Parts: sequence; structure tokens; C-alpha cells
Amino acid sequence: MSDPDNKSARPHLSVVIPLLNEEGALRELHEKLTAVLVRLGHTYEILFVDDGSRDNSAAILDELVAADEHIGCVRFRRNFGKAAALDAGFKRVRGDIVVTMDADLQDDPEEIPRMLAKLDEGWDVVSGWKEKRHDPLGKTLPSKFFNFTVSRVSGVKLKDFNCGFKAYRREAIDGLRLYGELHRYVPVLVHWRGFSVTQISVTHHPRTTGVSKYGVERMLKGAFDLLTVLLITRYRTRPLHMFGLIGALLSVLGFVCLSYLTVLWFQGVRPIGTRPLFFLGLLLIMVGVQLVSTGLLGEMLASSQQTRGESYVIKQFSEPRSRHLELRQVPDQKPGGAEADPVVPGSGATAG
Ligand code: UDP
Ligand code: MG
Repeated sequence: MSDPDNKSARPHLSVVIPLLNEEGALRELHEKLTAVLVRLGHTYEILFVDDGSRDNSAAILDELVAADEHIGCVRFRRNFGKAAALDAGFKRVRGDIVVTMDADLQDDPEEIPRMLAKLDEGWDVVSGWKEKRHDPLGKTLPSKFFNFTVSRVSGVKLKDFNCGFKAYRREAIDGLRLYGELHRYVPVLVHWRGFSVTQISVTHHPRTTGVSKYGVERMLKGAFDLLTVLLITRYRTRPLHMFGLIGALLSVLGFVCLSYLTVLWFQGVRPIGTRPLFFLGLLLIMVGVQLVSTGLLGEMLASSQQTRGESYVIKQFSEPRSRHLELRQVPDQKPGGAEADPVVPGSGATAG
């Protein structure tokens, strides 16, 4: 029987696993993960995304793909980063529910059933929280600061944005575009699209094979991405509100400085052109005007973007039933399947 959507081949659950040089973990991960998924009893697929590994990972993945029909693999030409790897995975999996996890055995597959149970409660995204984290202090401390900041700035109340272990309803990630270091901010992006996000604490194991790819310096770089995230979520359609507000504030401050000096000048206090306050005032106004201009440029960009992509996510669309009724009332089509002539304004006059 033909099945245009190929729905029969669509699994209930897809697991996406980005990896870079994880040769020591892959076989064991496959074994443990498969045991859990089989026990769950859902149809499933596992998609490994090899983010440019240079060790033996590729060969091991080839072996796993050949041995297990549930396994797929996307291989990047070089290392493009975890966000890109997740993006490639999200675009290729077909499950109604998508779970992401790291490949280094630090995330425990045994947690997946609990995550799915949480989704069943009605949440769209369940994010893992490594409550007892087994990583060096040099990593956990900056991470705490990072999580606190992101949570405050974004308004998404999660304790662990860095955790790669998450479960999503398919709709939550459809149309999401991840690049750079945006993988840390998926809950923020998804929350902004109107989906509900929650967290559960998950077991976290120490890394026993391979090395961590994320040090403090990558986290610091990630801090800049928070600005990006703000810009592409809250201020995406109104960049002038972000730049314009700061710019206007600075300009007003500068104006106050110069006004004060002007009053002094009228009172006979001279010279004012050599005073630090004079230069500060000028600088504030110049920087302020530049920020406002940047905001205006942003508005122009945003307005041209609006015509290309949609800036909203639709949950449901109930089509007016009359549309279908009208369709049925349309007079019979011309013989040969050609559509009835469209009514062209003015065509009657020229036809005669
Ligand atoms: N990873 C990746 N591309 C990268 C860096 C990391 O796919 O450029 C993968 C890595 O193989 C692992 C996951 O992302 O499966 C998390 O990385 P890691 O364990 O090094 O981070 P940590 O747990 O130390 O924060
Ligand atoms: Mg890890």
C-alpha cells in the first residue's frame, strides 16, 4: 500500500547524539541506550552526529550503523560545533519526541523514561539538571555564574542551561536554527517560541573516557551569545528598543552634562571647553546617537527579514469550514481538467 507520508516508518522516539572524538564511549553508550529504549517499548531511532571526529569514532559508527537498523549517522566534513551538530540532527530525525544527549557516557540513558513521563504531564521541553555534577571545580563554578545570569536575563527559570540531556516534543524544535554556541540556549529559544519548558534533576557521571571539549574559555565566549540570544528572541522584531533605549539614555546624560556647562558659561565661568565633563558630555552624545542609528539599521534589517521568514509560531489553525463548502459549490471544471478562466478585471471589455 502506498503511504505518501511514510508514516509507518516514523518512530515515536528519536535520540540525537552529537559527538566529537568519543571512540571510547560509543559502543557502551549504544548498548546501554538500546537496553533502555527496548525496555520502553516505543518505536525508536538513534541518530549520531559526528562533528568532525579525528579518532576512531567514524569507523565505530559505521560498524554500529551496519549492525543495528535503528542507528543512523550524520558525518560532518570538519568540526562545526555542537550547535550545528544538533541542528543537523533535528532536521533529520522523524520521531514525535526527540531526546538529545552527550556521547561521553556522562548522561545516563536510564533517565530517559523519567524525562518522557515529564513530557506526558504536558510539558513541551524537559531539560536535564546535573544537580550533583561530576566535573572539576574550575568548570562547575563559572557554570553556576553562567546559569544564574542566563536565567535572570532570559526569564527562563532553569538551573542548568549547559546540560545536553533534554527531551522535546517535535513541534518545539521544528524550524529552530542552531549555530555557533546557541546549543546552550535552546530552552530560551524554545520558550520564546511559546513552548513550555521544565527541568528534572538527572544523574551525571564523571567522564571516564576521552577529554572534555568545553573549558572555561568557551563558556566565556558563550557569554557573548547571550546578547545574540536576546537580540534574536526578545528584540528580534524591535531592535530599536534595545539599542535605542541605551543610546537615548546616554545621549540624555551627555545633554545634561553639556547643559550644566552651558549654564556655568552664562554665569561667566570660563573656559568650559577644557573641562573633562565637556568631553564626557560630547562622548556620551556621540555614542548615544551611534547606538540609536544602529537600532534603526537593525529595524531595517528586521523589516526585510519579516518578508522572508515568519516571526511567530502557530499552535493551531482552524480553517473556516465555508472555504471547503465554497469549493464544492464551484461550477464543474472544464473538460480536460483545465481550470475555469479566472475573472480578469476589464477582460469583458477587451473580449468584445
Ligand atoms: N561535542 C561536539 N562538538 C564539539 C564539542 C563537543 O559534538 O565541538 C560533543 C561531545 O563529543 C559530547 C558533547 O558534545 O558528546 C558534550 O561535550 P563535552 O562532554 O566535551 O562537554 P562537557 O560535558 O565537558 O561540558
Ligand atoms: Mg561531557
